[in-house]
Amino acid sequence: MTGKIFRSIFSVAMSILLACLVILFGVLYSYFTNVQENSLKTMLHLSAAGVEKSGAEYFSNLDASCRLTWIAADGKVLFDSEKRAELLENHLERSEIKEAFAEGEGNSVRYSDTAMEKTIYRAVRLKDGTVLRASVSFAPIWTLLLGMLQPICVVFLIALALSAVLAYRVSKKITEPLEQIDLNHPLDTRTYEELTPLLRKIESQNQEIAAQKKELADKRTDMEFAEESRREFTANVSHELKTPLQTIMGSAELLENGLVKPEDINFFALGIRKESNRLLALIEDIIHLSQLDESLKMQFSEVDVYALCENEIERLEPIAKKNNIQLALLGEHTVLSAVPQLMKEIVHNLIDNAVKYNKPEGKVTVRVSSSGKQSILSVSDTGIGVSPEHQAHIFERFYRVDKSHSKATGGTGLGLSIVKHAVSYMEGEIRMESEPDVGTTITVLFPKNP
Ligand code: ADP
Repeated sequence: MTGKIFRSIFSVAMSILLACLVILFGVLYSYFTNVQENSLKTMLHLSAAGVEKSGAEYFSNLDASCRLTWIAADGKVLFDSEKRAELLENHLERSEIKEAFAEGEGNSVRYSDTAMEKTIYRAVRLKDGTVLRASVSFAPIWTLLLGMLQPICVVFLIALALSAVLAYRVSKKITEPLEQIDLNHPLDTRTYEELTPLLRKIESQNQEIAAQKKELADKRTDMEFAEESRREFTANVSHELKTPLQTIMGSAELLENGLVKPEDINFFALGIRKESNRLLALIEDIIHLSQLDESLKMQFSEVDVYALCENEIERLEPIAKKNNIQLALLGEHTVLSAVPQLMKEIVHNLIDNAVKYNKPEGKVTVRVSSSGKQSILSVSDTGIGVSPEHQAHIFERFYRVDKSHSKATGGTGLGLSIVKHAVSYMEGEIRMESEPDVGTTITVLFPKNP
């Protein structure tokens, strides 16, 4: 680019220089020609007056700056300031003389044989019928040019060098701000105002690209995260499934080989049933979770949360009674739009946990209420509580604060993660308050019309 600008400036400078030289020369030449023609005219008129007054005597002490010729009425040369008059031929046929005899004044221009000289003639008729002619010779324009070739060349070379230096500097100065543009931060550089729209466009495109890059990176991290949790989940699932199966297989083997005393058979059978139940519960929970994971479209319909709680409490009553745990249901019937199956899961898991992680003689209070556009379900217990460091994790898959307690009560570690998923599917919100040894309250807020 610098090279292109340099060449343009340089050629413009050269063209201007040449044009100036030609014009200047032309003007000067015509000016000097004019001056000479004028002085020739003045000289002729002065001399004409002199000849008219003093006749041939005028020429005796002549000191003229041009050639003077005096011609008689018959064309014979009477006097010439440069050559002897008798050697000169008759001048009657010379155009300026002819014109002067005819009209009183005559002019002509003639070039020498070699065209190295140009002569201008001016003639005037005197009162006595003779003609006086003045002439002057000078070089034509091209010979003048030829003569001045050397100084012209010197001027030209100096101008050439000067133009080259200036063109180089100017082109550098023009391109410098362009070279300084930082395409990553185009608006940070100070450059030509005319470029601002272009730079703005570059900047906005940069931002667009950055946003797209970020989006792609986020998508990748999301995908990596999803892949990672899927892998983790699969590993956990196979481990969780294996444990009860191994117990079942062990017990079955002992029974098969007759290694169990008849009075212990019942105990082993019970163990097998318990583990099978756990396995079943696990499989059910896993199926629910994967259904939720796949975000299949589930049908919303009107659900009475209070009625669901009543059923669940009724179901859990026998287990609660065993530990002298009191179950209470407060509030009113509220109907909201929800997925019945998911709502059942939520109610079941929350009340089940409140019983499972309670203390003997403890209490479970379930409240159903409604406020504005929300239905609120809260389950409080006076149980073992969750210490703050575990609170953030208990909604994760397979997370259990106390593995043995959870297992002993038939827990799978998936209940609360199903609750969390189900609540978010129905656009609800979960809050939890818990204090170790005092109890836990989990509150779920549902929009009545998600
Ligand atoms: P689990 O099948 O083990 O009950 P959950 O996902 O339902 O699995 O709960 C995860 C863990 O959170 C439980 O193992 C338990 O340690 C803790 N937890 C859940 N509910 C309560 C509660 N009401 N009181 C105390 N701890 C609880």
